[in-house]
Amino acid sequence: MTTAIAPRLMGKRILVTGAGKGIGRVTAEMLVSEGAEVIAVSRSAEDLGSLAERTGCRTHIVDLADAGAAGAVARQALPLDGLVNNAGVVELAPFLETTAALFERVMAVNVRAPMLISQIVARDWIRREARGAIVNVSSLASLWGTPDHAAYGASKAALDSLTMTMANELGPFGIRTNSINPVVTLTPMAERAWSDPAKAGAMLARIPLRRFAKPKEVASVICFLLSDAASMINGVILPVDGGFRVA
Ligand code: NAP
Repeated sequence: MTTAIAPRLMGKRILVTGAGKGIGRVTAEMLVSEGAEVIAVSRSAEDLGSLAERTGCRTHIVDLADAGAAGAVARQALPLDGLVNNAGVVELAPFLETTAALFERVMAVNVRAPMLISQIVARDWIRREARGAIVNVSSLASLWGTPDHAAYGASKAALDSLTMTMANELGPFGIRTNSINPVVTLTPMAERAWSDPAKAGAMLARIPLRRFAKPKEVASVICFLLSDAASMINGVILPVDGGFRVA
């Protein structure tokens, strides 16, 4: 006889940024399958339209590079039970060619928006004496000096630092904050970027599992960290990397 397992996130309201494509989209779909009510934020109307059609989730078209718009969408989404700060941008350049403008564009989306959105969500939890969980989608690039990723790596290291401070300051209110740090994850765009066997081969050789991550392998860790199964996990920087760092 098999026992039915209840969905872990039944009835939880969860905001997912960058839910139009890639990891965010797969996460939104998995959260819905786990019983959650998802509020999906992204930039492209077409992506959000097809996501809403598939899952029935609520959607907001927002450019999170705009600090005011990031705050406004967080306020509109309240009350929440969970938050996934997933939206992120990559702009590649060698360190010596990384301009102030490029650096600021990357930091605005990858660090400033998660900070502003998390502040609004956490203040609401504290006011309501509610518990909550935040997952910041960082990257292995925060932990490894990836060539041409100066701004991106710095933004993800800053996000990890934010995670640790948030975990420390918000933990006493029953709010958990964690980072996940995936290796190359085969979203449609990454599949194109890593289709060159010379480039992919060198990277794969450093991963003991000898493969890149699938979006659902990242999404499942996000769902776990949001769920009560992770109720004692707070402030971790969690590589999802097939063992890259131990090789
Ligand atoms: P993706 O396929 O490019 O999807 C990113 C999503 O975020 C898109 O829906 C995009 O919307 C949205 N987004 C980007 N900038 C935005 C903005 N300013 N305002 C609102 N929405 C915005 O990316 P992904 O590969 O799934 O990456 C998701 C997260 O995982 C990122 O934080 C990334 O740094 C991290 N990560 C990815 C990998 C990887 O190999 N894929 C590895 C490690 C970490 P539009 O397309 O409409 O702009």
